[in-house]
Amino acid sequence: MAILRTRAVAASIATVATLLLAAGCASRPQRPPVTPPEAQPEPQPAPEPQIPAPLRPPSRATIEAAPFPSSLPIPVDGVDRSELESTFDHPRSGGRRHEAIDIFAPRNTPVRATTAGYVSSRGVRSLGGRTISVIGPGGYRHYYAHLEVWAGFDRGDYVEPGDILAYVGNSGNASAGPTHLHYAIYRSDDEPLDPYPLLRRGPGPFE
Ligand SMILES: [Zn+2]
Repeated sequence: MAILRTRAVAASIATVATLLLAAGCASRPQRPPVTPPEAQPEPQPAPEPQIPAPLRPPSRATIEAAPFPSSLPIPVDGVDRSELESTFDHPRSGGRRHEAIDIFAPRNTPVRATTAGYVSSRGVRSLGGRTISVIGPGGYRHYYAHLEVWAGFDRGDYVEPGDILAYVGNSGNASAGPTHLHYAIYRSDDEPLDPYPLLRRGPGPFE
C-alpha cells in the first residue's frame, strides 16, 4: 500500500514537472551567452565634434577686386530716398566743391556701412569732425563725416553692409548747422563720385 502511494506521488511529481517544462516555467540553469571573440566590436574612437569652421571675412584684396555696385542702400536709418537732395559739386567756402551728399537726420541716428569693406581710417578732422572711412568693392573709399560718436569698428576691421559705424552728429565744420551725415565716395585715385544717383537707385535705408 505504501509503495503504491509513493509511486503515485512520484508519478504526479513527474507529470507536474513535465507540464512545467512544457510551459517554460521551470528554472533551468542559465548558461552565459557565448560571444565569439571575433564578434567583439573594435573600440571606436569618439567621433570628432562637428564644429563649423569660423566664417572668415573676405580679404581686402578680394573686396577690392569685386565690382563697384550700381546702386547703394542709404547709410542713415529712417531716411527715405525721396528725402535725398543732391548737393554734389555745389560750391563751398574757400573755393572748395562739395564732394558728397548731406543726409539730414536727428542726432544719434545710426550710420551704417553701405558696402562690405575694411575700415581704413577713423579719426577727427578739422572739416569733417569725427570721421570713418571704409574701403569697399572696386577699391572705392566711403567717407562718413560729422559723426556724433563712433560705434565699435576701428581701423583694420571688416564691416558688412548694414553694420553700424557711427551715429549722426554735426562735429567738425558742421557744428553750427543741423545734424547730418556727410557721405562721400572716392575712387582709388581720390576722384569723388556723386553718391546721389547710387542712393536713389538703391533699396533705401536699412531700417
Ligand atoms: Zn557735406
